[in-house]
Amino acid sequence: MTDAAELRSRAQELLAAHPPADTGRLDFLRARFDAGLAWVHFPEGLGGLGLPRSLQPVVDAELQAAGAPDNDPRRIGIGLGMAAPTILQYGTEEQKARFLKPLWTGEEVWCQLFSEPGAGSDLAALGTRAVREGDEWVVNGQKVWTSSAHLARWAILIARTDPDVPKHRGITYFVCDMTDPGVEVRPLRQITGEAEFNEVFLTGVRIPDAHRLGGTGDGWRVAQTTLNNERVAIGGMRLPREGGMIGPVSKTWRERPELRTHDLHQRLLKLWVDAEVARLTGERLRQQLVAGQPGPEGAGMKLAFARLNQEISGLEVELGGEEGLLYDDWTMRRPELVDFTGRDAGYRYLRSKGNSIEGGTSEVLLNIVAERVLGLPAEPRTDKDVAWKDLAR
Ligand SMILES: Cc1cc2nc3c(=O)[nH]c(=O)nc-3n(C[C@H](O)[C@H](O)[C@H](O)COP(=O)(O)OP(=O)(O)OC[C@H]3O[C@@H](n4cnc5c(N)ncnc54)[C@H](O)[C@@H]3O)c2cc1C
Repeated sequence: MTDAAELRSRAQELLAAHPPADTGRLDFLRARFDAGLAWVHFPEGLGGLGLPRSLQPVVDAELQAAGAPDNDPRRIGIGLGMAAPTILQYGTEEQKARFLKPLWTGEEVWCQLFSEPGAGSDLAALGTRAVREGDEWVVNGQKVWTSSAHLARWAILIARTDPDVPKHRGITYFVCDMTDPGVEVRPLRQITGEAEFNEVFLTGVRIPDAHRLGGTGDGWRVAQTTLNNERVAIGGMRLPREGGMIGPVSKTWRERPELRTHDLHQRLLKLWVDAEVARLTGERLRQQLVAGQPGPEGAGMKLAFARLNQEISGLEVELGGEEGLLYDDWTMRRPELVDFTGRDAGYRYLRSKGNSIEGGTSEVLLNIVAERVLGLPAEPRTDKDVAWKDLAR
C-alpha cells in the first residue's frame, strides 16, 4: 500500500472509532493526535508517523470530507508554527511528551516572548535577565508586541543568562508559564483599533530548569529554529487559488462592474498573477521542507507576502472609492486570531501594514536573503566580540 493509501485507511479507522457526529471536539482531536494523524511528519507517539510533510493534505482532506473538527490552526499559529518545531528539535523527551499534545489540540495556547522595547530587529541585544537559583531560573524584564499573550498558557521566551559574553552567546531559551504570578499582560492597541498584542512585564518569574529548551547560553541557536519557522508560518501558509488577500478584491471586481477602470484592471491582473506565483512558490517551499527544518529561504516568502498584502489591500481600498474609506469597527477588540478575510477592506489595508514588521521587518529579511541565500558580503558588525554588558544601549 502507498503511504497515501495507508493514511486514508488510517483516517477512516479513526473516523469509524470516533464518529465526528457522536464525539466531542476535543476527544476527537486527542484521538487524532494519538493515531499519528495530527502532523504526519512528526515522530510516532508525538502526533505523527514520521512520514513526509507533503502527505498531510491527504489526511486533512479525508477528515474534512467526513465533517471532522479541526484544531483551528489560525488560533494557535504561534504554537503550531513556532513553538512545536522548536520543542521537537531541542526539547527533552519529557518536554515533548508534556507540551506537544495540548499545543496541537489547541487546549493550550502559546505566545512568543522575544521582542523587547530595546531589542526588535537586533533581537540578540535583549536585556531580560534570567538568573539561576538552584533548580530554577528567576526572570526579570519586559517584552513587547506579544501576540496572543492574553490568551496564552505558555510562552517561548529568550532571556539573557550571561551578560559577560558577546550578545549572541549569553542567551538561553525557556518555556515560560504565563500563569506565574510574576507575569503581567497589558493590551497594546494597534492601528486597526484592536489589541491583538501586548506588553508583558516579567517580575521575579520562576522557571524550572526542566523548562529550559536547549543548553544554557545556546538560546540564539535555538531561536533560529523558531524564527525560520515563523517566516514560513507567516508567509508560507497553504492557500487555495484566490485564497488570502487577492480573494476579496477579485470578488468585488467581479460583482461590482461599476467600480472598474482600465488602470485598476491592469494593476489587479498583475497582482493576481503575482499572488498566484507566490502561492505556487509557497507550495514548492513546503515540498522542500519534506525533511528537516526550514532555512533562510522562508525570508523570501515572507517578504513577498508582506509586499503583496500591502499592494493588494491598497488596490482594494482604491477600488471601493468613497466606500473604501469606511471602517467597520473601531472598538478595542481582543481577537483570538487575525482574520484577513472576515472583515472589510479598511481592516485588511491597516492590518497588512504590520506584515512588513512582524516576524522580522522587510529590511532585515532583505539582509538575510542577501547574506544567507545569495552569499553577498555581510553588513559590518562591530559588536560581535564585545561583552553584552559593555554594549552602548
Ligand atoms: C503585528 C505584530 C505582531 C508581533 N508579534 C510579536 C510576538 O508575538 N512576539 C514578539 O516577540 N514580537 C512580535 N512582534 C515584534 C516584531 O518582531 C518586531 O516589531 C520586529 O522584529 C521589529 O522590531 P522593532 O519593532 O523593535 O523595530 P526596530 O528593530 O527598531 O526597527 C525600526 C526600523 O529600522 C529598520 N532596521 C533595523 N535594523 C536594520 C538593519 N540592520 N538594516 C536595515 N534596516 C534596519 C527596520 O526595518 C525598521 O524599519 C510583532 C510585531 C507586529 C507588528
